Amino acid sequence: MELVAVSKQQPWEAVEPVLAAGQRVFGENRVQEAMARWAEHRSEIELRLIGPLQSNKAREAAGFFDVIETLDRPNLAEALAREIQRQGRTPRLYVQVNTGEEPQKAGVSPAGADAFIADCRGPFGLQVSGLMCIPPAGEAAGPHFALLAKIAARNGIGQLSMGMSDDYETAIRFGATSVRVGSAIFGARAG
Ligand SMILES: *Cc1c(COP(=O)(O)O)cnc(C)c1O
Repeated sequence: MELVAVSKQQPWEAVEPVLAAGQRVFGENRVQEAMARWAEHRSEIELRLIGPLQSNKAREAAGFFDVIETLDRPNLAEALAREIQRQGRTPRLYVQVNTGEEPQKAGVSPAGADAFIADCRGPFGLQVSGLMCIPPAGEAAGPHFALLAKIAARNGIGQLSMGMSDDYETAIRFGATSVRVGSAIFGARAG
């Protein structure tokens, strides 16, 4: 079980002591912000993109992150496949599943997940290492984690990124291989 410390929108004064204490896996939700913040320490850490990725930022993202957790549509799969070929750099890819089928949230629908994963592996030639979800706020998270684990199992996918500050214990019970914890480590985000 891996702890991803979500440093997005945190002041460096909050992040630095955690880095100094030995934490080596960090999550960010914006490409430019992550590049600005981590350029200097890039070689010391594993960096994961956990926020939505626009296709026109696929080049930077493929070049900078170790893990991209938010693959969720064909045009992004195509853009990442092209950049992986071009750059010869292969970030691990997770497909984001919108387990609550919330219209405002990114991710493939649970019903469309198998087909999308097959397309990533087939036509786009990508390896899918994991699945990621963000359960709806104000709902019990357990059933969403169980659904994600079930989709992963039937597709032969080993990594499960699920659980945040409020529900990481539940996520671990449901088989998370990594949890993404921000405010419980760094305090509330500004703004
Ligand atoms: C911000 C964020 C987190 C961390 O949230 P906390 O509640 O602060 O732990 C985890 N995952 C994603 C995708 C996020 O955007």
